[in-house]
Amino acid sequence: MLRGQGNGGCPRLPCHQAPPGRLPEPQHQSPISNLFGGQYKSTLRCVSCGNQSAKFEAFSHLSVPMPARASQCSLHECIQLFVEGDTISGWTCPECQSSDDRATKRLDIWRLPPVLIIHIQRFFNDGAWKKNQSSVLCPLKNLDMSRHLATKDAHQQHHRYHLYGVVNHYGSMDSGHYTAFCRAPNTDRWHKYDDHQVHELSGGSVRSSAGYLLFYSAIDQRL
Ligand SMILES: [Zn+2]
Repeated sequence: MLRGQGNGGCPRLPCHQAPPGRLPEPQHQSPISNLFGGQYKSTLRCVSCGNQSAKFEAFSHLSVPMPARASQCSLHECIQLFVEGDTISGWTCPECQSSDDRATKRLDIWRLPPVLIIHIQRFFNDGAWKKNQSSVLCPLKNLDMSRHLATKDAHQQHHRYHLYGVVNHYGSMDSGHYTAFCRAPNTDRWHKYDDHQVHELSGGSVRSSAGYLLFYSAIDQRL
C-alpha cells in the first residue's frame, strides 16, 4: 500500500499538496514555479519487508547522474538512472523496524514544466571529489520525455522539448571556467558566450564533454 500521498513531509514544497499531476494551488504559484516547476513521486521501499511509502514533491530542475565508466552516454540513460534512484541508508522502516535501515528510492516523473532544466551530475565523491568528463549525447531538437513520464496522459502535458541553452564547465573541482551556448530564437543559430567574447557556433559543436546544465523549452512554449 502506498502511504503518505499528498500529506506532510515537505512543508517548504507546497506542490506535493496538490492532487497528482495538477498545478499547485494559486496562492503557491509564481511566474518562476509556473515556468520551471515540475512534480515527481518519491517512493521509498524497505529492502527487508518491501513496505512502500510515497509522497509527491516539486522540482525546479532534474539533477541526473551519469553512468559510471562510460566514455559517453545518452541523456536518456542519465534520466533513466535518475528515475530508478538508488539505495539509501539511515532510514528506519515504520512497518518492520528493521535494523537493516536501508531502502530503495525511486523518483517517478509526474509532471514536466514548460522550461526543463537538467543538471548533469559531473562531480562525484569516491573518497575524493572528482569530475566525470564523459560526453552526454543530448538531443538538440525533439527531446521526447514521454518514455520517462509515469503518468499515462503524456500527450496532455509538456513532454517534447527543443534545447535552447547549455552551460559548460571546463576544468576540475579546484579550478575551472564556465561558458554558455545559446540558440537565438529568431534565427535558430547557436552562439558561444565566453566572458566578453561571442562567436557563432555550429549546431554540431553544442554537445561536448563540458555540458553541465541543459535548458530545454517545450515545443509549444516558443522560447
Ligand atoms: Zn520494512
